[in-house]
Amino acid sequence: MPELPEVEAVTRRVRRMAAGARIVSAGLYRAGIAAPQNPEKIRRGTRGQRIEAVERRGKNILVFLDGGSVLRVHLRMTGNLTVIADHRLRPVTARAWFELDGGRAMILDDPRALGRITLHKTAELAKLFSNLGPEPLGPEFTPEFLARIAAASRKPIKLLLMDQRLIAGLGNIYAVEALFQAGIHPARKACRAGAGRLRALHAAIVGTLKLAIDSAIKAYELPGGFSEEEVFPAAVYGREGEACLRCRRLVRRMKQGGRSTYYCPGCQK
Ligand SMILES: [Zn+2]
Repeated sequence: MPELPEVEAVTRRVRRMAAGARIVSAGLYRAGIAAPQNPEKIRRGTRGQRIEAVERRGKNILVFLDGGSVLRVHLRMTGNLTVIADHRLRPVTARAWFELDGGRAMILDDPRALGRITLHKTAELAKLFSNLGPEPLGPEFTPEFLARIAAASRKPIKLLLMDQRLIAGLGNIYAVEALFQAGIHPARKACRAGAGRLRALHAAIVGTLKLAIDSAIKAYELPGGFSEEEVFPAAVYGREGEACLRCRRLVRRMKQGGRSTYYCPGCQK
């Protein structure tokens, strides 16, 4: 599933290619793609609109239109939002397409057709994302913020990092890697992590995500889809039973909140 870095890479590419373009017409492959809205609302609401900006919030891509509305795109499992040179040459897996002036098209290419597109008033966005915590790469996510939410929680620190209401969209692989870098055992109670290691954890989260965005941008330059797990240079994620790169003890795996957590019992306390 695309995580924050892939969605950020897609957002930047669409911004570069489509910002400033006008939408001539729109097509949606089936009603469910706009659920709980009606595809007709999206067709009518986007026609003639100019794309003013393309931003990301959590794993949502937000395409701001000049009439005061915004297209919200969620890629789900296999979606990819991209711009093609000729709207007539869209692949059969394009589930939504927006013909742009000049004949290009912004398409939601999605083999499994699980992605979603909805249209909202820009003024509704704050309410729409009211359950989403600060962006981990945004100005609100400071070392002090992380220290504050950790001090208030007796949950295992890994589950704290995965709670979208506290931090938006930090994916499993990046939470696992950041905890390894900071030397914190994923099952440690958040309030017992210690001030110094929490500062290290904050730096590791930001550093890991920036590295992952760079690797996602490079990967999207290649044709076809890709899996972040294949291209991101993970130290412990997916390495159960392998020797830790730092201390040579064997990497372990456990389940937390239904997800796999990998850690080194030598390096993480
Ligand atoms: Zn180790």
